[in-house]
Amino acid sequence: MKTVVLAGGGHTHLEVLRRLTAERDTEVKWTLVSASRYHYYSGMFSGFAEGLYSIEDIRIDLKKICEDKNIDFIEETLESFDPAKREVVLSSGEKLSYDRLSLDIGSHTAPDQIEGLAEKQIQIKPAHLFTERIDACRKAKELVIIGGGAAAIEMAFSFHQWKQQNGRKYDRVTVVASGEMVDEKSDSVVETLFDHKGIRYVKGDAAVEVTDRYVMTESGGEVLYSEVIFLGGAQAPALLEASGLSVDKKGFIKVNACLQTPDDSRVFAAGDCAALITHPYLPKSGVYAVRQGEVLHHNLIASLRRGALMDYKPQSRALILLSTGGKQALMLYGKWRQFGSWAWWWKDYIDRGYMRKYQ
Ligand SMILES: Cc1cc2nc3c(=O)[nH]c(=O)nc-3n(C[C@H](O)[C@H](O)[C@H](O)COP(=O)(O)OP(=O)(O)OC[C@H]3O[C@@H](n4cnc5c(N)ncnc54)[C@H](O)[C@@H]3O)c2cc1C
Repeated sequence: MKTVVLAGGGHTHLEVLRRLTAERDTEVKWTLVSASRYHYYSGMFSGFAEGLYSIEDIRIDLKKICEDKNIDFIEETLESFDPAKREVVLSSGEKLSYDRLSLDIGSHTAPDQIEGLAEKQIQIKPAHLFTERIDACRKAKELVIIGGGAAAIEMAFSFHQWKQQNGRKYDRVTVVASGEMVDEKSDSVVETLFDHKGIRYVKGDAAVEVTDRYVMTESGGEVLYSEVIFLGGAQAPALLEASGLSVDKKGFIKVNACLQTPDDSRVFAAGDCAALITHPYLPKSGVYAVRQGEVLHHNLIASLRRGALMDYKPQSRALILLSTGGKQALMLYGKWRQFGSWAWWWKDYIDRGYMRKYQ
């Protein structure tokens, strides 16, 4: 009997689980190790923060899927893995051996370059922490979001909207971002909306330190906060580098186009935790993680059977629908930009459709 250990219940493994049918090879035992019983769908994080979705709307019960498909489910954190021994170590100390290991453990939001941030921030990733930590952000008098990418923009709008609708109109949301947010054209739409809604934007300045009361910026600015979150880019889980396998400059595990680590053909990785050698600048986004599922499913099985592996080829353009609060959204596709309520309804339709596929 061969054993495949899937570590992490992220977007890619969810798709692998969906594709595992009852008719699969009975000589292969599949085990999912997940820090949480649930998968949380990041596309609906903003709507959840705003109060548009309930917790059941945005999560999928991994344990139930595993039970239905006769897959072992272990609700524990992967602490480390040893490629030489072909063994993983779980938070309980239990060890599991594997023939194939697949990692989809996502990323963190705790960079060590900003002094004091790790101790002071509300950490909302890994994904299973998100729902339990969101209330403190909603109710913060002075909420500061460090980072200016899609997640930071969406969350700023969502928290602002929640505050407007829940008697906290005098709270303030501030975004501190050092570079361009999305691109010049989209940024001007976002900045106009920030301005209109009263979201403060500290533009072109990097957070360098978080003290007890202030986020200190590179230009010497002091931004008062009562709660601070970092959404300035995915950070790598330390256990990847500790395995001894090759990682990129940020510590994400390197994989080839087959999602296989170049150092060890028995170890695969996908989603945020993986660094594709063929596409080093691929954004860390759920959109790409989901699409890797088909390739990962095929390759895990094919590699056990010594069959031909498939290459993952990221889509050249991804549709991005950025929620801007109050059931409005900004749609980005290639060079095309459109804003309105219809974009939010489209996003809601796509996101609910995604959830229906797995629930
Ligand atoms: C606030 C916010 C909003 C975002 N919004 C969007 C969006 O709208 N659209 C989009 O495409 N992307 C969005 N993203 C990015 C998106 O969250 C990630 O790119 C996506 O979740 C990556 O999927 P994944 O499969 O790599 O991992 P995840 O979906 O993060 O899943 C990893 C899983 O592994 C588990 N895990 C972690 N560590 C361990 C461990 N050691 N052992 C076992 N299990 C572990 C976690 O509990 C988690 O369930 C957002 C990110 C944030 C922070």
